[in-house]
Amino acid sequence: MPKSSGRPPVAPASRFWSKVDKTDTCWLWTAGLDISGYGRFFDGTKESKAHRWAFQDDAGPIPSGAIVLHSCDERMCVNPAHLRLGTHDDNMADMRARGRQARGCRTNTAKLTADDVVVIRELFAAGGVSQAALARKYGVTSGLVSTIVRGETWSHIGGPRTQVGRGKGSRSSG
Ligand SMILES: [Zn+2]
Repeated sequence: MPKSSGRPPVAPASRFWSKVDKTDTCWLWTAGLDISGYGRFFDGTKESKAHRWAFQDDAGPIPSGAIVLHSCDERMCVNPAHLRLGTHDDNMADMRARGRQARGCRTNTAKLTADDVVVIRELFAAGGVSQAALARKYGVTSGLVSTIVRGETWSHIGGPRTQVGRGKGSRSSG
């Protein structure tokens, strides 16, 4: 007869990390989330935010009053390398900083990295690919691609500039 002590206890840490999808950057919590989008984890005694639990598991207890901040801005992320201790004031400062960035990021150009810009210029200069195709590939407008290949935007980034003539053939009058 087995003892009546119920299931053998599983260490909270092994349960915790089995719910984590470790990508190359962020380690994403795959179990339940709270209404704010933070992971929730019940360790058998109490429920915690998953990223706080991960931080404690890695670095030890969180001082009272301290909060655990994400450097990656991904609330589901529990990668200890992306977590740091901070205060509520730090958090508000981060949110303000990100608010400014977020406004900038809604512009078309922010979808592209400097590398993308160089590749777009090289592909277009090499020929055989239209601005519209590049725009679709990178999820931006063809108008933006046009300004990129001419060097009007991202002018500080390298890559070949291509002057796109509108009136093609208009010079060949003789
Ligand atoms: Zn992360």
